[in-house]
Amino acid sequence: MNEQNSQAGAGQIQKSADQLINHPIIRNLGQLFSAAGFELYLVGGSVRDALLGRSQEDFDFATSASPEQTLSVIRGFADDIWQVGMAFGTIGLAKAQCKIEITTFRQEIYTADSRNPEVSFAPTIESDLSRRDFTINAMAIKLPEGGFIDLFNGLADLAAGRLATPAGPEQSFTDDPLRMLRALRFEAQLNMKPAPEVVEAIVAFGPRLEIISKERVRDELSKLLVSDGPGPAIMTMVETGLAAHVIPELIELGRLRDPAHRHKDVLKHTLTVMANVPPELELRLAALFHDIGKPKTITSDAGEIHFFHHEVVGAKIAGRRLKELRYPVKTIAEVKGLIAAHMRFHTYRLGWTDKAVRKYVREIGPERLPALSTLVRADCTTQNQFLAAKFGRLIDELDSRIAALEAEEESAKIRPALDGDEIMAYLKIGPGPTVGKVLSMLLEARLDGKVKTKPEAYELTRQWAKENLD
Ligand code: ATP
Ligand code: MG
Repeated sequence: MNEQNSQAGAGQIQKSADQLINHPIIRNLGQLFSAAGFELYLVGGSVRDALLGRSQEDFDFATSASPEQTLSVIRGFADDIWQVGMAFGTIGLAKAQCKIEITTFRQEIYTADSRNPEVSFAPTIESDLSRRDFTINAMAIKLPEGGFIDLFNGLADLAAGRLATPAGPEQSFTDDPLRMLRALRFEAQLNMKPAPEVVEAIVAFGPRLEIISKERVRDELSKLLVSDGPGPAIMTMVETGLAAHVIPELIELGRLRDPAHRHKDVLKHTLTVMANVPPELELRLAALFHDIGKPKTITSDAGEIHFFHHEVVGAKIAGRRLKELRYPVKTIAEVKGLIAAHMRFHTYRLGWTDKAVRKYVREIGPERLPALSTLVRADCTTQNQFLAAKFGRLIDELDSRIAALEAEEESAKIRPALDGDEIMAYLKIGPGPTVGKVLSMLLEARLDGKVKTKPEAYELTRQWAKENLD
């Protein structure tokens, strides 16, 4: 049991349930539905996260009311209402800072090759809960009074950090194969472990993920990647073979040993780098794919192993895979750019002239530099301590040289507020040394931050002429 999950003790249930039912918005909603003669329950992630002590502003509810009935109950209460999910039984609403979804009790109906489930309504909260993905997501709190419903031992699983399905995982994953990937997403987000029978079912039913639309796969993968602990979940994905249906290239990466660093397995290194960059999607994707070109480029020369141009090959592989997963063009371009450039820094050790530093900035693009610096730092920290420290200093040095050159170039762009023609016209003089003197006087004033506008510059020129001409 980890620290976070250990909060879900016996006393905690009552405390969390009390906190939830006394939340003003939740209490009001509970009273509204009960007055209208409908059942209302807090469900799913809302109950789970409350028990874990995770803060939340979004709440999910289940109700016996039909979507039309829900609409009439919340009219006048909600600040804003969304009906886009109505065909699936869901009404969305905003109230103060909260985003709320209220879904009519339902169950999904699956056909053997359905890419998306068909939805039908269910008669009771019990049948609604029994079709949910994991026991930790199948708990409910009845409103307004706060009765706790836990038909599948979700609370015990939450406390034990165990991901288990309400019914047999084989049936569950056959019904909706996306749940296999959701298991790994919750492993990453909640620092939990899939139960042994869940792991077995993923091994057996992994290929069924192919029937799921790429967009749904992408969305779960993204949530997994930007979580606190993506590394172990990606490792499970590779070990169960599910990766073959999400990012097949990871399987080969998992087999690659780097003989030069006997103990350094390339997949493990990759996962460490990924965990060491901040939880931003593009950075996490770039880290995940940064060495993906290695299996394709490995060569050995007199006992020495090389991965020549693995960054170029890797950027291509990542681009193809992310396109297949329907990531936006902009995300793909950013990730490819970072991967392609992640080895550039390593030639810095040879010493770069200012010209070489400028070329680096121009090639990478100034807006991509901070992310690249973050990725390269994370990549280097898996080296031994001495090397990592040395690389860290070199990266700092390169970053500050870039900043200094940029500042220099910014100041080089500063011009006097008037040009020579304007000075000549204003002072009614021809070309000559006086024009140069006024120009440098105006530049000084500009660099001092004193004179910015033309009227200010004309006024200063007038004073200067009074003191220095005639
Ligand atoms: P979060 O919103 O924090 O990402 P969540 O648990 O609320 O986590 P959602 O994807 O919003 O996850 O789903 C809401 C609830 O609906 C889940 O808690 C679960 O009970 C149920 N659910 C979602 N997807 C499925 C599915 N594919 N199969 C079964 N139940 C599901
Ligand atoms: Mg949710």
